[in-house]
Amino acid sequence: MSHPMATEWFDQPEPETGKSGLRFRCTMCGNCCSGPPGYVKITDEECATLAARLGLRLHEFLDTYTEFSPAGRSLTERLTKHGFDCVFLDREKIPGKAVCAVYEDRPAQCRTWPFWKSNLLHPRNWLAAARTCPGINQGELIPPEQIRIQRAKVDI
Ligand code: SF4
Repeated sequence: MSHPMATEWFDQPEPETGKSGLRFRCTMCGNCCSGPPGYVKITDEECATLAARLGLRLHEFLDTYTEFSPAGRSLTERLTKHGFDCVFLDREKIPGKAVCAVYEDRPAQCRTWPFWKSNLLHPRNWLAAARTCPGINQGELIPPEQIRIQRAKVDI
């Protein structure tokens, strides 16, 4: 039976709890920050914030840490044995984990993963994302309202 307020697939309540939403808890595996060549879209404002954090002038930050991708300006990647890592992915700090070196100031694309439009189109897309992100379908239940807020923040 469908939920009376249901408008999207993730509004359907879980059979186990009767609550709706999607589960996600990051395991710090780094998969979403690496893998095949991709891009991390970054806005002018986000660049300015990161430049200030790193004590760089804006043009120094842009030259060192960003490049142009088909989706616009992106953080650069570096090829490691794991794949194309985001330039800010730190695999040294915590053994066995991959953490963001600029976590508090990371771009919206990173903040909103995995609640992107492309992942939420259909349960199939969500399950496909779960194949590379072990945090999907784990941990706490994120309510639909929160999911919609995250989804609206980036166009991916
Ligand atoms: S792929 Fe998922 S679990 Fe791994 S770091 Fe990214 S968000 Fe976290």
